[in-house]
Amino acid sequence: MRAIVTALLIAGGIVATACVQSRDGGAATNPVQLPVDSGLAAFIDGIRAVDNHTHVNTVVLADSESDALPLEALLPFDLPMRLRPDNPGWLAAYRALYDYPHADLSDAHMTELRGTIQRVARERGDKFPEWVLDRVGTEVMLANRIAMGPGLAPPRFRWVSFVDPLMLPLSTKDEAAVSPDRQKLFPLEEKLLRRYLAELKIEKLPATLDTYLGTVVTPTLERQRQAGCVAVKFEAAYLRSLDFDEVAANTAGSVYVRYLSGGVPSRDDYKALQDFLFRYIAREAGRLGMAVHIHSFEGAGAFYRVAGSDPLLLESAFNDPTLRGTNFVIVHGGGVYASHAGAMLWKPNVFVDISAMTLLYSPSKMAGLLKDWLLQFPEKVLFGTDASALGPDMGWEVSAWIGTKTGREALSTALTSMMRDGDVSRARANEIATMVMRLNAARLYNLKLQ
Ligand SMILES: [Zn+2]
Repeated sequence: MRAIVTALLIAGGIVATACVQSRDGGAATNPVQLPVDSGLAAFIDGIRAVDNHTHVNTVVLADSESDALPLEALLPFDLPMRLRPDNPGWLAAYRALYDYPHADLSDAHMTELRGTIQRVARERGDKFPEWVLDRVGTEVMLANRIAMGPGLAPPRFRWVSFVDPLMLPLSTKDEAAVSPDRQKLFPLEEKLLRRYLAELKIEKLPATLDTYLGTVVTPTLERQRQAGCVAVKFEAAYLRSLDFDEVAANTAGSVYVRYLSGGVPSRDDYKALQDFLFRYIAREAGRLGMAVHIHSFEGAGAFYRVAGSDPLLLESAFNDPTLRGTNFVIVHGGGVYASHAGAMLWKPNVFVDISAMTLLYSPSKMAGLLKDWLLQFPEKVLFGTDASALGPDMGWEVSAWIGTKTGREALSTALTSMMRDGDVSRARANEIATMVMRLNAARLYNLKLQ
């Protein structure tokens, strides 16, 4: 998920003035809803988190680099309920972050709130993002962005770059024709590839695939690593299906050469080249010590192809022995395919995160998914929010607060249930909570946490 709501809210004419009836969003019906163990919940609230996935903004006004595929450009689509402006979660976030004193979001009170938000941003300046981390209890936030910028510096913020453009050196005309969404998204990938080439001072693509790998792909990954990247991210599920097959170098190489100076590759030919490049990029990322993040979720968008994001489609890549030096993270936990993501945790180098779920799902629904994973591979599950700017009054800090609160609540519920079922002791529940909230990520990215 990304910064999509601004345009949609404006387009839809929705205004955030609805009165809020209750603060907890009403009853949920998930089987893993039960009174949470208060000691465990307090323990989990006190853990300083590592947030595995966000599109945090810099302090630059109108920051436009928080996502390679910002969906503002797409046609409007309806948002799930929890992201709509009348969700009571926003009010709770305003209270916690900005000491908002009111119990409603009336026009007058919202004007006052906007004043407070601007004042805090002004007063904190470059330190605003770190101030937010302290408010939400996050020690380290991964920033999945085109580039880092003012306010986002290590050790509190760590970069996750985008690598889809490297997989798309040829004309994407036929790829883009598949859906109205893709029509908008592919040109953004082309633009980012041109930026990567410019950073390397390369004016035109090299004549062979081998030279493309050696002078564009590897050097770009090396530059990203040197700039502090801990992982690279594929948003490929927005552009194609995740079935990255094994393809011989000469097959891929001949497609590259055939269409380099013109013409549009057939979709089968282009798939072969992309598949080859995906595995090359993933292998190089592993060699350089960067994990590979892969978007897997049921959205966003009205033309998004959910079936193409099933983590099971990644199994052949996960089983590639030459990729066992690369760690993969199924970002957003596969969403509707959460149990398929769980099945992939048998692979020694595959992890899942709960980002976006923490914004879109109820804590009780999430608790059920988490429990299923934690009963199998607790060392492979990572906390995350997908915090992003979601609209004029819904900056990344607001979604970070909501996602963090929901994540902690869901984890408390899942572990309480496991304790009651006799699956884990209280001590082990505390240990697993610490692993999910921070230690698993610290180990995966080799973060030196105090
Ligand atoms: Zn995201």
